[in-house]
Amino acid sequence: MTVLLKKDAALAELARMRAELGANEDTCLMCRLAAGAAVPEPIFETRELSVVLDRFGSREGHLLVISKRHVEDLSDLGAEEYLRAQRLAFDASQVLTRALAPKRTFIAALGAPRQVPMSFPHFHLHVIPIYEDDERARPARVFSWTEGVVVYSDDEARALSKKLRETWLRVF
Ligand SMILES: [Zn+2]
Repeated sequence: MTVLLKKDAALAELARMRAELGANEDTCLMCRLAAGAAVPEPIFETRELSVVLDRFGSREGHLLVISKRHVEDLSDLGAEEYLRAQRLAFDASQVLTRALAPKRTFIAALGAPRQVPMSFPHFHLHVIPIYEDDERARPARVFSWTEGVVVYSDDEARALSKKLRETWLRVF
């Protein structure tokens, strides 16, 4: 069953996943995810971008659009690739709407001004389905680990990714 982990437990789980994927100071976790190294495999990918289920989601179905090359600065990414990433984020939002019927979907490019455990400098976009229509849907609460993190078993993550992949192929 999908569980909501408290921040400390989620950070421990994230550290475990980083180790499992061989990510460390020299090998970026986002690079590993974009390369399809994690379970489950990407929901959709192009030559330069991958769409994957965030195993540490703000909500069930939280997706990441990740560049396959390690780019930290938007100016290195360039406008064209940035727009292609946003296009995939748009497509992902349509897929989430069809598959999971959220009330709203947030799309965000975030990042931290300093190194923190749950943030990665490698360029990625968040696509987050929001199911609530009360205070819990406020962006400051959604974009925080303090309210808990959605984690899946490998089987749950595979099943949800499969459902979203099938929806993707049907919609586009
Ligand atoms: Zn990277």
